[in-house]
Amino acid sequence: MFQAQDRSLVVISTDVANILVSYRQLSDSSQESAGVLIGERRGVHIVIKTLTEPSRWDIRSRFMVDRVSKHHQKAVDNAFKKSNGEWHYLGEWHTHPEDEPKPSMTDYSSWHKNLKSSDPLILIIAGRTGFWVGKKINEQIEVLQSI
Ligand SMILES: [Zn+2]
Repeated sequence: MFQAQDRSLVVISTDVANILVSYRQLSDSSQESAGVLIGERRGVHIVIKTLTEPSRWDIRSRFMVDRVSKHHQKAVDNAFKKSNGEWHYLGEWHTHPEDEPKPSMTDYSSWHKNLKSSDPLILIIAGRTGFWVGKKINEQIEVLQSI
């Protein structure tokens, strides 16, 4: 569970956390992975219920991930339908080959360029030993504290 300065919470379900852990870049040759986050908005709080995983159509490399595959959008649409409109696109995740991950300049510029939403979006980077979790509200990105 993660908290913003305004005390709003981001809850990551156990299933989602386990999947993120399974994609950790533990060896030097393992690739960077990425996908989108899906779940519920409960007032100011956000519950991440599921995520999309890389498909073989995604371009994967160790330091760059291009989210080219349409299966991510399809998964968001299906989750929305199956949940009667409760589950939404909530943001993105990717992995880094470092223990305690920090966003790169490329991450910040791509988030600012590609993520347009009037609702807050969640950004997760899964490192080897820890997660970095941020929340983007308009052009501001706040780092959330693990609680
Ligand atoms: Zn990154």
